[in-house]
Amino acid sequence: ERDLLMIPGPVEFDPEVMRALGAKTASHVSPEFIAVFGRALQRLREVCLAPSAQPFVVAGSGTWAMEMAVANLVEPGERALVVNTGYFSDRMATLLERYGAEVVQARATPGEVPDLTEVERLLAGGRFKLMTVTHVDTSTGVLTPAETLVRAAHRHGVLSVVDGVCATAGETFHQDAWGADVYLTASQKALGVPPGLALLSVSRRALDSWRARRTPVRSLYADFAEWLPIMEAYEAGRAAYFATPPVNLVYALDVSLGQLLREGMEARFARHRLMARAFRAAWRALGLRTLPVSESVAAHTLSALYFPEGVDAAWVGKVREQGVVLAGGLHPQLKARYFRVGHMNVVSPGDVLATVGAIERALAVAGHRFAPDSAVAAAQAALLPPG
Ligand code: PMP
Repeated sequence: ERDLLMIPGPVEFDPEVMRALGAKTASHVSPEFIAVFGRALQRLREVCLAPSAQPFVVAGSGTWAMEMAVANLVEPGERALVVNTGYFSDRMATLLERYGAEVVQARATPGEVPDLTEVERLLAGGRFKLMTVTHVDTSTGVLTPAETLVRAAHRHGVLSVVDGVCATAGETFHQDAWGADVYLTASQKALGVPPGLALLSVSRRALDSWRARRTPVRSLYADFAEWLPIMEAYEAGRAAYFATPPVNLVYALDVSLGQLLREGMEARFARHRLMARAFRAAWRALGLRTLPVSESVAAHTLSALYFPEGVDAAWVGKVREQGVVLAGGLHPQLKARYFRVGHMNVVSPGDVLATVGAIERALAVAGHRFAPDSAVAAAQAALLPPG
């Protein structure tokens, strides 16, 4: 299988990370595993730029990280504000309702961010317990101004929950400095580990709010009461058991987080911005229109692009014949009209050029007329250092 996986998760992973998955599985209470898990938790604090927050790493996917945040922080009848930028914000609203919250949504047309003045107005008068923000909604490719939103929530005494599944370790995020209460994510995107881990970084304020609950957390597997002692024990170098951790995925996480920190978070964010700039130059050269209405609201971790005239969802298969795997649309209203290209984790200039080249060839096969190589050249120019 030599196809280049350029979907918005799972993505291509580093070979050293993949080798960790095949290592001999240790006992989950052995000194070897305790050392690895403890280090991975400490590294997660650094990756989230949140030394003061409590990390949680649990077997599950991103949806489970969302569910853990909601199950622990919301009690029936409490009010929650969802800043909605697409399918995954819808999912957050569904979860909140499932746990008995009264949900108010700030909405926008697909491709846009909800009006920030309106969000501020709602925060001021809405008696909300928490606000959720999808940092990058993978269905629209929209990047929300997380810092502004999180700071606004903080000012109004509302807890902020940020879904970083398609953003963490790809989009700039400073949890402690901005005052975000929950930063939740999954392993399979910019964090660089195959699917299977739900990760959360939870502020002291959010933990205090959880401790002050009047009703029990409905889900046992979600309950911070079960997980907090486990995370604290592993980080302190002791074993503890609630439910068997996914040992090899934790090995892989530790390796990947080590690599991320060696690259450096700011350098990593900058590399994702550079790859996004190169892709954007290519999209312009090809005359492809992005779903996000402007570059200022476009993610650096993926591109969502309308199909050009005369091309439909089957064309994604044509790109695969050129050696690159892309994703179709996901937004319920627009699904059939666009496709998505993920650019996260180990994505390199070579991957960008290969992807743009494959798209260019597949468009040519579909009868599209454009100056040959114009998009590859545009991407190349964006990737070269200035001067
Ligand atoms: N939130 C966002 C922004 C996502 O992109 C995804 C997955 N694509 C999820 C949540 C859900 O994660 P998972 O599919 O791992 O459950």
